[in-house]
Amino acid sequence: MRQPLALRRVKRTSRDIRTANRYGVLRQIVAESPTSRQELAAATGLSLATVATLVGELLDLGMITEVGFEDSAGGRPRGLVAVNAPGGALIGVDVAETYVRVELFDLALNVLARAGEELRPHRSRPEQVTGHVAAAVGSVVAQAGVEGARVLGVGVSVPGQVDRATGICAYAPNWDWHDVPLLGLLAEHIAYPLYLDNPLRACAVAEQWFGAARGHGDAVVVNLGTGVGAGLVLGGGLHRGVSNSAGEWGHTTLVLDGRPCHCGDHGCVETYVGAPGIMLNLRELAPHSPLLHPGDQTATVDALARGVAAHDPVALEVLRTTARHLGAGIADLVNLLNPEVVVLSSWVAATLGEPLLHEVREAVARHALRRPLAATEIVLSPIPTDPVCLGAATFALEGALQPAGRRSAERARPRP
Ligand SMILES: [Zn+2]
Repeated sequence: MRQPLALRRVKRTSRDIRTANRYGVLRQIVAESPTSRQELAAATGLSLATVATLVGELLDLGMITEVGFEDSAGGRPRGLVAVNAPGGALIGVDVAETYVRVELFDLALNVLARAGEELRPHRSRPEQVTGHVAAAVGSVVAQAGVEGARVLGVGVSVPGQVDRATGICAYAPNWDWHDVPLLGLLAEHIAYPLYLDNPLRACAVAEQWFGAARGHGDAVVVNLGTGVGAGLVLGGGLHRGVSNSAGEWGHTTLVLDGRPCHCGDHGCVETYVGAPGIMLNLRELAPHSPLLHPGDQTATVDALARGVAAHDPVALEVLRTTARHLGAGIADLVNLLNPEVVVLSSWVAATLGEPLLHEVREAVARHALRRPLAATEIVLSPIPTDPVCLGAATFALEGALQPAGRRSAERARPRP
């Protein structure tokens, strides 16, 4: 018999809260190992009794381990727990417009193996991308020498709008994918539990756990790649919106009736500051510049970075034009969300680095209101590896903590 909707919702909610608390405690242990139950209670806001129960469950799962005692002033020595790094393996997959990268992590989120391939233009049909991902996942498992049974899950990040519950890519504008059942296709090649989300969420979580957003309740992670978007951490949590499409800042209008965008609109932020937009900034300024590598975004952005370092006037002007547009868009985010930190992430930000950051800070200061501006720090992502793989791996970790019934139900879901 079907339960009334309200009842189902209540049951699901209490189970979700339990899973979320477990995940919150594990996340804190991963970030701060070794740590005590008392410190965990203080950091998570949960009661000591609840923390003790959750720690017991994580010990039973073999995800954490007891590692000794610390003295507490005048009281009984406190037991310390730490993440059990070899207790399982997690895989993070970053599918971008120009490459596929896969990294295998232990439970402390140390990288144990990497694999990756370039994606050539016109090689981005779902079954081609699926083939690349499956091959790279097989490669990292073999390189790391882990038994398949120890792989707790694979988190997959793909650009565009995704439905986490069904594993479907609803819309990927750069590839013109519509309703592609990606996890279903991957499940034909990969036997591990699979979890889907997009790079905005992955980068935000990576910064929240290990990067510049750590310890900040309100942060915006600006993702600058081929596509552009903003991962949002609001009030200490990842903000997804009602249909998991919050943060599509790249498709907010920056120039009325401006450049055409593949989303169908005109003048979107992305068309001025995404890698193809930056190429267009260069082409409009100097159509025959040797910095321009037609059809190759990576080579063009690399050439611009070298040009900026060598004080090439064209490269500097392109950097300024890009930063002016980016700064205006980021000032909107600062005025709208009042974050403590804005992190510039992904490959375009990493390649253009400090010179871009400097110009962006000046441009934001010209547009943002004084009060939110004074409260905001703008920084480059300090994460040395691919933050999208790292964030995607945390989705697999979160998934591994879900109740077993729900997980197997998800895996067994019929493919559309
Ligand atoms: Zn657009």
